[in-house]
Amino acid sequence: MKFSGKNVLITGASRGIGKQIAITLASYGLKVWINYRSNPSLADAVMEEIIQNGGDAAVVCADVSKENDWKEMLKVIIDSDGSLAYLVNNAGITKDKLAIRMSISDFDDVIDANLKSTFIGCRDSLKLMSKKRFGSIVNISSIVGEMGNAGQVNYSASKGAVNTMTKSFAKEGSTRGIRFNAVTPGFIRTDMTDELKPEIKENYEKNIPLGRFGETSEIADAVAFLLSDHSSYITGEILKVNGGLYV
Ligand code: NAP
Repeated sequence: MKFSGKNVLITGASRGIGKQIAITLASYGLKVWINYRSNPSLADAVMEEIIQNGGDAAVVCADVSKENDWKEMLKVIIDSDGSLAYLVNNAGITKDKLAIRMSISDFDDVIDANLKSTFIGCRDSLKLMSKKRFGSIVNISSIVGEMGNAGQVNYSASKGAVNTMTKSFAKEGSTRGIRFNAVTPGFIRTDMTDELKPEIKENYEKNIPLGRFGETSEIADAVAFLLSDHSSYITGEILKVNGGLYV
């Protein structure tokens, strides 16, 4: 896969989908900035794995729902590398409950972690990338933002908004040479889906045309394509990677 840029920031890359995106992008020769919020040893382990395999990586702490944390994180990257070529807004949380039992804080926390974080990341990176008239950003959204899901009113609202926001950013970024796309994973095997009850998992699996949950590497491959030079004429796209569950 060909990349004209040199470095990438991946939010929430200490585990799950973000970790695999970091490993995949490092294997293509990009310097990978691994963002984490709460567990430095997990982030360090991802960095060490990449370096042991001949790649280049660094770790940077930030709570991406906080504007000031974004400013400080981007400053660390610019002070070190001079520019940022690629961004993957991957960090996200769930706080699932039926809507009638959902508190305002359950709603706000998910909007802040999934949507506000992505807005700040896209806005501040667009400003930075505009200086070089080059950049590509991929937002990790969700199938739930397209089809809705009982128990996930907050999560579906956040991810549906990420999808439309990605299209709007694509329109604003296009004149500056910056592309914005999103990937909407279906059900992927990570800590997030490990939390689901076994009967709920089985029920989902029965309805997935490809008959199984996806692997993190299958999301990472789609992200790599959308960041790379191979998708140079694609912007504002919402790419489904869901085993056919929602088409
Ligand atoms: P995960 O295993 O729960 O990992 C989430 C990652 O995000 C962790 O590294 C976590 O760091 C980080 N994070 C959360 N809030 C953060 C914040 N405020 N600031 C910085 N980092 C933060 O989740 P995953 O399954 O890999 O999901 C990754 C993305 O894919 C999410 O956006 C999720 O909504 C989306 N997605 C997942 C699935 C799925 O089936 N797994 C399906 C559709 C979409 P800490 O450990 O420090 O909190």
